[in-house]
Amino acid sequence: MDCLFCKIIEGKLPSAKIYENEHVVAFLDINPVHPGHTLVVPKHHSTSLFDMPDDDIAAVFHAAKKVAQAVKEATSAGGINVNMNNDKAAGQVVFHSHIHLIPRFENDGLKLWPGRKYSEGQQAEIQKRIVGC
Ligand code: AMP
Ligand code: ZN
Repeated sequence: MDCLFCKIIEGKLPSAKIYENEHVVAFLDINPVHPGHTLVVPKHHSTSLFDMPDDDIAAVFHAAKKVAQAVKEATSAGGINVNMNNDKAAGQVVFHSHIHLIPRFENDGLKLWPGRKYSEGQQAEIQKRIVGC
């Protein structure tokens, strides 16, 4: 399997590693939103949240808390966004599960996605469909 992050995990490609334990590795994103932007990656290959084993989800978020604290302190960030892109339509480009830890600063000019109003009945309809799945 030709997976970029598996190669990084196996040490076949370089990375700026900042944390590692038995289940997880964290390294700096090569194209950071801000310096210190970090990826937390399970060592076991899965594609996205949808096929990620529950224990890897737990391990990634457990590590993310620890790493996010270090990133926040080291960058003097005002806050950290935790983001995961799942599937192409959501912007995923590397198909090995990972979460982004993005340092944020007051007035850094970045905007989160826009919120929109529901049309009449639309909220109840989508609620019913999701609960029914
Ligand atoms: P996404 O799949 O959209 O969540 O984003 C994948 C992220 O991986 C992007 O932000 C890339 O900048 C980052 N990336 C791609 N190749 C590398 C690499 N070799 N080392 C570190 N980060 C990478
Ligand atoms: Zn992989």
